[in-house]
Amino acid sequence: MLSMLDNVTEKDFHVNTLTGFVHENRQVVLSVIVYDFVLSHQEEWLERDIGPRYTRRRHQAPFCCPKCRRCCFTRKGSRKRVYKNLIGKLLLPVLQVRCSGCSCRFCPYKDRIGLSFTERISSSLLDKQLSLTCELPYWKARRFVENFLSIAVSPGTVRKQIDKESESIEALDITARNQIACIDSTKVPAGSKQKGETIHLAVFARPGKRGRRPASHKRLLFLTVGDAEEVRKRTRALKLRGLVHDGDMDFSGCATLVQRCLWHLPHQLKYFLWQDGVPHKARLPWVKELIGILFGSLNTQEMRQRYANFMDQLGEAGCFQACEHLKNAEKELTVSRENNFFYHTTAPIEREMREINRRAEIGVRWSTKGVQNLLRVKMYRRLNKQP
Ligand SMILES: [Zn+2]
Repeated sequence: MLSMLDNVTEKDFHVNTLTGFVHENRQVVLSVIVYDFVLSHQEEWLERDIGPRYTRRRHQAPFCCPKCRRCCFTRKGSRKRVYKNLIGKLLLPVLQVRCSGCSCRFCPYKDRIGLSFTERISSSLLDKQLSLTCELPYWKARRFVENFLSIAVSPGTVRKQIDKESESIEALDITARNQIACIDSTKVPAGSKQKGETIHLAVFARPGKRGRRPASHKRLLFLTVGDAEEVRKRTRALKLRGLVHDGDMDFSGCATLVQRCLWHLPHQLKYFLWQDGVPHKARLPWVKELIGILFGSLNTQEMRQRYANFMDQLGEAGCFQACEHLKNAEKELTVSRENNFFYHTTAPIEREMREINRRAEIGVRWSTKGVQNLLRVKMYRRLNKQP
């Protein structure tokens, strides 16, 4: 390394030039160090296992020939293996031996040093690019990693790793017995349907702090693309005590206690009032009144009473669809207050839905499996792997 630095002339001397030079040449310098280290260790083991060089004395090695199972060997040079890693593309030696019985050649230490045939890319390099792919499109993540490390992994390899990681997350036995979860869904541009596919997300959340600021502690329970029945089945399997949802799907019976999101209720009311033919300006007083009922300082009894009166008023005004909408939510109105839920709305999950949309809406049409696996890995790493 020091001899290389001789090339830096006095004229160029500037720490920026110097560090840039070292960075550019790190692969050349470090590859020599790593090569020698890997080689000398294997030579040491070989000396111990099959005996010293240039002697006729034969040891019984602690490993045996993969073909004839005998344990007597002679040295047979080395193979070079390409290994992509954070330093760059390295060519590393793997020592070979020849079986004295059947003359078969093999590398006895390749698995032990992590250079078996399948291991061509270091897990740390792959992991760096994978975490970036969770945030950015595949090609952008590759470009970033290449700019910083002068090496990158092909997007195809990253995708395979994502599929593998997604499968292992699916295989985990995640339950939230006796806990309270938020469930929500969003459309993503995937599959053959023009409207795209629906991603369903279930998250456990409780209020907490990050540093001195209030922040929810969240945990991914499931993320899936599927029809309503599949989502209900998965929700039942979580064995929840309670859940909060926005009313897009019927979750009755999926948990002991089911609560409608109190934030969505008045906002959805606007749409139903429009369906009932109420002009834009006239909708606002209705919505405001409902917000007053849901978030005012009423006890649950008063709240239910005023909600029922409000429905009657809507009925009298001929807003039957709006009235029906509120009627459907009536049973799930005060559950969270009566049972001390942490949240009465789906607020903690809305932030996560935004993350999902941010990653999925990038102007491409995904495959259903591809988007599901990527988002599952992203959300698992984001919520469950936080320090
Ligand atoms: Zn053999």
